[in-house]
Amino acid sequence: MRLFLLKTKTAYLTLKMNLNLQDKVILISGGAKGIGGAISRGLIEEGAIPVMIDPSEKEALEIFELSKGKALHIPIRLFSEDDARLAIQKTVEVFGRIDGLVNNAGANDGVGLEHGTPEAFVHSVGKNLFHYYYLAHFALPFLKKSKGSIVNISSKTAVTGQGNTSGYIAAKGAQLALTREWAVELLPYQIRVNAILPAEVFTPMYENWIQSFPNPDEKLAEINARIPLGNRMTTPEEIASMAIFLLSDKASHITGQQLYVDGGYTHLDRAL
Ligand code: NAP
Repeated sequence: MRLFLLKTKTAYLTLKMNLNLQDKVILISGGAKGIGGAISRGLIEEGAIPVMIDPSEKEALEIFELSKGKALHIPIRLFSEDDARLAIQKTVEVFGRIDGLVNNAGANDGVGLEHGTPEAFVHSVGKNLFHYYYLAHFALPFLKKSKGSIVNISSKTAVTGQGNTSGYIAAKGAQLALTREWAVELLPYQIRVNAILPAEVFTPMYENWIQSFPNPDEKLAEINARIPLGNRMTTPEEIASMAIFLLSDKASHITGQQLYVDGGYTHLDRAL
């Protein structure tokens, strides 16, 4: 990770912060596209080994090629306990260790209170939340050995609400609560647990959502105008930088935190 440039008399000198992630095995649910894809790519730059648990074949293959074979793709859509158990077993079979977990897979699926159904609500919570617990649970014996780290990708909607998306929000709020809960429970093992709250990040999921409006360009411009820092969306790489830092031992005294990487969207006065 390049941090800053020092101007010397003759040249610019690049100083590198060594994140010590070389050869570390990091699981990323939804690790082939969007935010998860950016995390996998960033980890490769750091010499780490991303394990992408994601059904997306084409994107995972691109990342695998980028890694020159130092990556693993587990092509499943996580839902049940067995899916997560299998993903952990496969990872350990191949690499014999796990050094970090990024719980990231999810989708804002619009199951509301008034227009949703109880069945759809339960399904939405299941697909957005339960695999966060399952992966952490089955990875734990290996994270204990490596003193690894967990990063949960939540959402600013967990603290602001959004409307018409009860299932997704219930999952995102629970992810924040579990971040604190696991940070406490895992203190004795020196396992750190943190959450990142993105707000508006231009990813394939976001693009699909924008395209659902009659005038997507106008809608996007309206959203950009409300983002205080630079009137632009957060990039997936900006979320990835935070995730990779939190996974690294440079974040060695950070645990139980909720980090907003959102250009000030959640907290700054957007009327300014
Ligand atoms: P994305 O563009 O849809 O990428 C997510 C990737 O995860 C896709 O490859 C997707 O595959 C895969 N995936 C989805 N559900 C999965 C599952 N159950 N098991 C395994 N893989 C699964 O989404 P994103 O925008 O990067 O979002 C990633 C995370 O950030 C989510 O938790 C989301 O809630 C959170 N977030 C995003 C934003 C934003 O503005 N983008 C804002 C706040 C929070 P398919 O495409 O085949 O489904």
